[in-house]
Amino acid sequence: MKVVALTGGIASGKSTVARLLRELGAEVIDADQIAREVTAPGQPALAEVVAAFGEAYLLPDGGLDRRKLGELVFADPQARAKLNAIVHPRVRARLREARERIARERPDTVLVMDIPLLFESDVPDYEGMDAIVVYASPETQIARLMARDGLSRDQAQARLRAQIPLADKLPRARWVVHNDGPLADTRTQVARIWEEILAQR
Ligand code: ADP
Repeated sequence: MKVVALTGGIASGKSTVARLLRELGAEVIDADQIAREVTAPGQPALAEVVAAFGEAYLLPDGGLDRRKLGELVFADPQARAKLNAIVHPRVRARLREARERIARERPDTVLVMDIPLLFESDVPDYEGMDAIVVYASPETQIARLMARDGLSRDQAQARLRAQIPLADKLPRARWVVHNDGPLADTRTQVARIWEEILAQR
């Protein structure tokens, strides 16, 4: 099985590129989605989050208020570290399980692991993986973030400032998707990268 990492910055287009790769036949696993699964109602991580931060971070239906918790951890690095200590080990374990299961069931497939914080996390599992970095300029990221999440320009800029600049991730990319242009251009680039991945497999 060929394994490729997919990363980028906030609103740079990772989910969009993941969808295009899936259409081309890749198996995609998404670390953000897994983070939501491990903190779903009934999961031990949700109980730990509530013990750490309080019931004020639950929605009336018992689910996690991700928006509210997001605002807290965005503003408070200590809270962020605490949340990560609860969530990240579980996400890593599930990613590992999913990878092993897919390798067993579909040894010929190409597995794309969508890991937003690939280069920020110092995890041996992720070392040596070829990475696709989805790049968009800060102006594009801000505009798309405002449109997608209903943030003000100031809020969107603050989110961006809290991240490693996307340009700094480019040297670590095996492939770069330039996603400032229309979707059709992105699709063309992704198809070309897909052919190269298949050729390597
Ligand atoms: P990420 O997963 O990196 O946060 P998304 O794939 O969700 O980013 O993209 C952010 C937003 O920008 C989404 O609303 C998406 O539909 C939109 N978007 C992504 N790529 C393009 C593009 N090439 N042209 C126009 N809109 C785009």
